[in-house]
Amino acid sequence: MSKNIFIKNLSNKNPTKDITLDDIKYKIPLITKKQNINIKINNKISFNKNNVPIIAGPNGVESRKLIFNVANFLKKKGIKILRGHAYKPLTFPYRSKKYLETKNQGMDWLDEVKKYTGLAIVTEVTEIKYLDRICQTADILQIGSRNMQNLELLKECAITKKPIILKRHFGASLRDMLGAGEHILVEGNKNLILCERGVSSPHTHRETSRFILDIQAIPALQEITSLPVISDPSHASFWAPWVPPLIYASIAANCNGLIIEMHPKPNESAVDPLQPLNYKKFSEVLNNSKKIAKLFKKKII
Ligand code: PEP
Ligand code: MN
Repeated sequence: MSKNIFIKNLSNKNPTKDITLDDIKYKIPLITKKQNINIKINNKISFNKNNVPIIAGPNGVESRKLIFNVANFLKKKGIKILRGHAYKPLTFPYRSKKYLETKNQGMDWLDEVKKYTGLAIVTEVTEIKYLDRICQTADILQIGSRNMQNLELLKECAITKKPIILKRHFGASLRDMLGAGEHILVEGNKNLILCERGVSSPHTHRETSRFILDIQAIPALQEITSLPVISDPSHASFWAPWVPPLIYASIAANCNGLIIEMHPKPNESAVDPLQPLNYKKFSEVLNNSKKIAKLFKKKII
């Protein structure tokens, strides 16, 4: 080994960090402010230190029948938040005939199901022009990973004062994510929930997984922000058999909520059929999750 690699008196006192003190002071002062955050969605649902709310449902609001079927199942299981997208970005432009965005029709179904079951609704906002319709029904707006830095969209969503789930883009640093979140807080909307949903890395370009769930992002974000940090193992792994262990790991890593994609017949899901849990698996995972959460003095809701 070359002698030159050893430097005398090499200091390790100020190792650089991605997010600097200067950033915290001038660029992300609101999102890094230490405070007791409690994001109340309604009388039964709060995102805080003690709860792990589960947001579950299919990828898209494919049909009225599907969304009612899923909602009834979730309600029986005690789940309080239903997810499903009526507006939906896809990685590639081609869509199967089976899958067209149901848009306003899908929102009407979500509205019906919400009135019928009392479940809270999370749905994705892809464009400002859909925001008015979405806000009539949604309890929480989801900004998808592909739109993490669509700053006009973030601003318009923030102005509605609705709670917002901001998903981290799969190529974004935590610093960029927090910068995007700051765009929401600066509009006076404090109801921000951060979501880790997997990142690209060399091995995700092979067959093993689509993204890697960055579990470490959960404590890392919680170290600098008091906002809830939720985890979405479904979109990270893209592969249903791997979703349960990633759910358990996320709870153990102190996540403040979970997004779990599920479907009565996963192989019939119009999008990403390898990813959703079926009802049986979902029930098993829910039971195990409750036990794990209890170990950490938290409650699955
Ligand atoms: C989704 O939640 O259905 C979704 C598409 O997520 P992401 O934006 O993380 O890909
Ligand atoms: Mn999806």
